[in-house]
Amino acid sequence: MRIDAHQHFWVYDQSEYVWINDSMASLRRDFLPNDLKIELERKGFQGSVAVQARQTLEETRWLLELAAEASFILGVVGWVDLRSSNLRSQLEAFAVNPKLVGIRHIVQSEANDRFLLQPEFLQGISLLEEFDLAYDLLIYPKHLPVATEFVRRFPRQRFVLDHLAKPPIKSGSLRPWERGMRELGTFPNVFCKLSGLVTEADWQNWKPEHIAPYMDVAFETFGPRRLMIGSDWPVCTLAASYTRTIDLVESYLSQHATEVQEAALGRNAQQFWKLEMRQKQLPGDSQHTFGNGKNEREGDAAHASRRRCARNEK
Ligand SMILES: [Zn+2]
Repeated sequence: MRIDAHQHFWVYDQSEYVWINDSMASLRRDFLPNDLKIELERKGFQGSVAVQARQTLEETRWLLELAAEASFILGVVGWVDLRSSNLRSQLEAFAVNPKLVGIRHIVQSEANDRFLLQPEFLQGISLLEEFDLAYDLLIYPKHLPVATEFVRRFPRQRFVLDHLAKPPIKSGSLRPWERGMRELGTFPNVFCKLSGLVTEADWQNWKPEHIAPYMDVAFETFGPRRLMIGSDWPVCTLAASYTRTIDLVESYLSQHATEVQEAALGRNAQQFWKLEMRQKQLPGDSQHTFGNGKNEREGDAAHASRRRCARNEK
């Protein structure tokens, strides 16, 4: 199964997407499942993981609604307020839905470079394992040493690094990003997405050979079992079409054995987010839309019960 491990949806609204500046004007429109479906099919992907773009509970709720309607959305990486004293009830409300697979906070935009290590944030992360949720690290290279300190505290928590921590592809330099990556990669519970690379390069003039050295470091660091392809659509369209974005990584992978390619193109994501298991928790054929509300509720109940069991086993 081929899976795009990182994409976004939005109904564009200037006040909610302030990071979309004038240089990104082409992103100032709606991007919805039907738009993505065409791209996925063209590149032979059967599914995707939708990642939050707004830091609201409404965003998580909305993405889960989209995922209930579009069966190709295999998982949602949502947002909850990890620093909130109310976090447990937020997680209890969302985690009954088997399509919630992970949580992300936009740490790259936080003023505090040591944001990840704040006691309230650490406390929040410590709850995720109980709810069987992964955590997406969205950081810049300067945060890599802090991220290493952070993941060291949670040896059983599943983490995935977004966009290789956004290396300085445009400038062509590798260090100190490379050193930070190699340290973070020593933790076996940290995976890495081969995503978001074209937008870190020169949008107009990038070539695959500008990006390959960064993928080399990711490969050497995380190995073939901890890498997963992601488009970062629609953000990627600033620098390349969906097809060209995927082709970049796919042709890079073609130097490796078929098994390695298949792992990075889907199997690793499937295993990391336990997507197959979650699909099974939804009665009825999950290859189709979950049109039957009764089935959805039964699926939720079965999943909640499994999560409760998992908790009791601890
Ligand atoms: Zn993204």
